[in-house]
Amino acid sequence: MEKVEKNNELMEKIVSLAKRRGFIFQSSEIYGGINGFWDYGPYGTQLKKAVEKVWWNYMVERRLNVEGLDSTVICHPQVWNASGHLDKFGDMMTDCKECKARHRVDLMEDENVCPNCGSSDLTEPREFNLMMKTFVGPVFDEDHVAYLRAETCQPIFVDFHQVRVATRQKLPFGIAQIGKAFRNEINPRNFTFRSREFTQMEMEFFCREEESMDWYNFWRDERLKYYYEILGFEKDTLRTHDHDQLAHYAKAAMDIEFKFPFGWGELEGIHHRGTWDMSRHSEFSKQNLEYVDHDNGGEKVMPTVVETSVGADRTILALLCNCYDEDMAETQKTGKASDVRVVFRFPAAIAPVQVAILPLSKKLSTEAQKVYDKLAKYFRAELDVTGSIGKRYRRQDEIGTPYCVTFDFDSLEDNAVTVRDRDTMEQERVEIKDLMHYFFGKLDY
Ligand code: ATP
Repeated sequence: MEKVEKNNELMEKIVSLAKRRGFIFQSSEIYGGINGFWDYGPYGTQLKKAVEKVWWNYMVERRLNVEGLDSTVICHPQVWNASGHLDKFGDMMTDCKECKARHRVDLMEDENVCPNCGSSDLTEPREFNLMMKTFVGPVFDEDHVAYLRAETCQPIFVDFHQVRVATRQKLPFGIAQIGKAFRNEINPRNFTFRSREFTQMEMEFFCREEESMDWYNFWRDERLKYYYEILGFEKDTLRTHDHDQLAHYAKAAMDIEFKFPFGWGELEGIHHRGTWDMSRHSEFSKQNLEYVDHDNGGEKVMPTVVETSVGADRTILALLCNCYDEDMAETQKTGKASDVRVVFRFPAAIAPVQVAILPLSKKLSTEAQKVYDKLAKYFRAELDVTGSIGKRYRRQDEIGTPYCVTFDFDSLEDNAVTVRDRDTMEQERVEIKDLMHYFFGKLDY
């Protein structure tokens, strides 16, 4: 019980700090907010762009066999018939007649008991379609219905041959996309964990059936490496979970889960999708989507797909939870609770601000800005002029800035600045002319 309370308390602290420091807050808050929709403020935007950039670099730019795509949110409605979303994409739901709460049946501990009030007076479970509907064109009738995409991967399947021809790729190769997805989730909850509008980062890898399990294992290992080596997650904060039940076309499927304060939750899915997607789009579009292998006597192959699919918002939430820390060293000396040093220990490659330049006195602002101008071209930098130096360090700690550069009166004479490391708290004098080089080694990954 104590642990649950502690975890709730931690989540509350993170949500409130995220709001106060402009990371994430409710969309349309002045109207009371809209459930399941979240805005990223200035630091949240920087963090999100950095997470996307690192993922893109790791999954696309560094690989010769993965290409990028940026497709539309609205596709031809047939895409969602072919994918099976219009038929089946929904959760079984039940309503509690007592407290009126609505629950996803697969997430209930006991299907006959309301997790909210304990009543067993529940409606029969019924299916709820999660696709968000809109109309395209001037007439709002059934002939003009379209859907906001529920996942970013479907346009990848549809555009497979366009990308292949344009890039002259041969099997095996992948196509990746980062973009918005929309699901009319029944129970948006746990901050951004279950939102109705969210960003996915997906990669679909097209290969021959006989080599698909090797690729599945390859991508599982690559994705785990990304979490441990690039995002800095410790071994015990992540676990993998193989699906017990597989879709009829799949050979394997697993989730990578993170230990959130509210419990283990899915961060990423790695799925063997067989030839299901390509075959279905062939059938519905009446186009032959087979790959012709000219290196193999023109053999026709329906590509098998291995997918890695992760939410940017869940990654960010996991990072906020993983990197939040309270340094008690000062409090232990002074005995004052207000001296707790709250720090987001973000890895430098994704920190919203990588270097903050702090002139010791406002009189030094012009000179300090010259240092900022130099660094801001290459790194996410901030010039922070107001408040005592101690307060500014605290502020930078709270937004997770790994390095603070202090420009003092000596800097005018020796052309050097003091660099303070967020984690070791060590301070080092570095010549301004060497700063760029100094940071290049530290802020990359
Ligand atoms: P869940 O079981 O949590 O509903 P899912 O299995 O339906 O997730 P996928 O369809 O596999 O999720 O989507 C891939 C990834 O997209 C998930 O691992 C998650 O990171 C992200 N994602 C899915 N739904 C949401 C959502 N409602 N809000 C935020 N991120 C989401």
